[in-house]
Amino acid sequence: MTLNGKNAIVTGASRGIGRATAIELASAGVNVALVATSLSDAVRAVQAECESLGVKACSYACDVSSGKETKDLVMQIRKDFGSVEILVNNAGITKDGLMSFMSEDDFDRVVGVNLKGAFNMIKTVSGLMLRARCGRIINMSSVSGLMGNAGQVNYSASKAGLVGLTKSVAREFASKGITCNAIAPGFIETDMTKDIGEDNPLVSSIPLGRMGRPQEIAQAVRFLAESDYITGVVLRVDGGIAM
Ligand code: NAD
Repeated sequence: MTLNGKNAIVTGASRGIGRATAIELASAGVNVALVATSLSDAVRAVQAECESLGVKACSYACDVSSGKETKDLVMQIRKDFGSVEILVNNAGITKDGLMSFMSEDDFDRVVGVNLKGAFNMIKTVSGLMLRARCGRIINMSSVSGLMGNAGQVNYSASKAGLVGLTKSVAREFASKGITCNAIAPGFIETDMTKDIGEDNPLVSSIPLGRMGRPQEIAQAVRFLAESDYITGVVLRVDGGIAM
């Protein structure tokens, strides 16, 4: 798919991987609807950066775990942009803890944002894509969902759930011109991983010897958005850690 002139929604766009993705798409001529938990200075700054690349950009506040909020959000984006060809379900949170100590609330919240958030967005946005018979859905999973990770039962479950959701959506929509893929990042330098130092054994266990950069995930998003013949894959961008 040619990206120039298309419209994208990027959730979790105020920082980290979402920010880099919005800027990468904008640099390919894609208009971007930036979604974050609040209309913070951070998301406004990403909007300004995208606009400086010559595309239309708007910011929206929405908790993606809420079906009502996502429905209202997509109605507003439709009014503002007309169509949506690309959806990047990137919003995500962690609430780590060992299984024995993890509260039900922390399990529900992480699954609610990371997994149900993607379901909510796809449910509404796919209506627009189906009418246009064109769409690219990209879900941000994690190597944690492929390998498991001690202390991340809730997070790993949500990210593994995204893999199943991605493949089912890919099968349902394949004949309608809509692809659905997942990216499984490894350890990427963002606020989410700010406590992992370069001397952490996790980093030395990465075959390529370093953490990834948000732009390296954004490039994978762009690649999947451009591709017409890839659907249902989980693309690891992880320096080899999960091979
Ligand atoms: P981050 O914490 O830097 O940014 C998260 C973004 O999600 C923010 O913009 C925040 O506003 C938004 N967000 C959080 N809860 C939300 C909600 N309920 N509704 C709407 N937006 C919400 O995170 P990041 O490191 O950039 O990660 C982005 C995605 O990549 C996440 O899904 C994360 O799980 C995944 N991921 C990250 C890493 C990593 O190492 N950083 C590794 C694997 C996967």
